[in-house]
Amino acid sequence: MQHLNVPPTQHVKVLDGQGWIGLIDHLGTETTIVNAARVSFGRLKETMDDRDVVLLEYLLENRHTSPLEHMVFTFSIHCPLFVRGQWHRHRTWSYNEISRRYTEVDLDFYVPPTLRRQADNNRQASVADECFADKSLRKLIEQHNGDSLKLYETLLEKGVCREQARGVLPQNMMVTFWGTTNLGNLLHFLELRDSEHAQWEIREYAVAIKQLVAPLIPNVAKYYEKKGQIW
Ligand SMILES: Cc1cc2nc3c(=O)[nH]c(=O)nc-3n(C[C@H](O)[C@H](O)[C@H](O)COP(=O)(O)OP(=O)(O)OC[C@H]3O[C@@H](n4cnc5c(N)ncnc54)[C@H](O)[C@@H]3O)c2cc1C
Repeated sequence: MQHLNVPPTQHVKVLDGQGWIGLIDHLGTETTIVNAARVSFGRLKETMDDRDVVLLEYLLENRHTSPLEHMVFTFSIHCPLFVRGQWHRHRTWSYNEISRRYTEVDLDFYVPPTLRRQADNNRQASVADECFADKSLRKLIEQHNGDSLKLYETLLEKGVCREQARGVLPQNMMVTFWGTTNLGNLLHFLELRDSEHAQWEIREYAVAIKQLVAPLIPNVAKYYEKKGQIW
């Protein structure tokens, strides 16, 4: 039996190798999408031709999203707790996660590869700053992670239950969850999260998703590339 904390064969590493996202499974193809769009005519095709590509682009251009919902993806995601918090705001995904009520093994913590400065003009944003001497601050973060883990372990040793002891673990604790969504909602997620407005950490995952799914939806990827996006 494979452990959930181990990335699946097809995965992309992110966050300086501390996180990863893998594709567990998918349902449907681009042909499924154009077939769904043409269901009303009662005719199905086995493969895509040029006219189907035009139809697919029409669906994307006009946000005619329901045919896209017939293609579904399941990912396994290893990310910091605060990224999971942002991810789970996407209510159109289905989620399951390793529970810290059941297990205390495999705890690890994210240490940002570089620290960014708080932006002056936007309370949500941060800015890269090469002059920012962050080595000693990163050391403090590592220390804090270690101290939190020690406290957690002490509480467990004293007999405190896992569901309460986990409260002392910091927001940069790594968690692993499965997320399933259809292509329509996945594209919505990518629009919001592979964006300069999104936090760098979740954006890393959005970019990785594009790498994982692009071979399965080559004409969708090409459509967005023509619009100037990187896929
Ligand atoms: C850059 C950025 C900053 C953010 N900052 C904050 C913040 O400061 N505070 C905060 O709380 N959140 C914040 N969010 C989260 C944001 O408000 C959304 O919750 C999140 O992006 C999910 O988007 P969504 O609701 O469109 O996606 P989904 O939940 O996947 O929903 C997809 C679409 O389905 C429809 N839908 C889903 N559920 C409902 C519903 N209950 N009623 C009606 N329509 C529904 C909507 O059309 C929605 O766009 C931020 C998001 C981003 C990208």
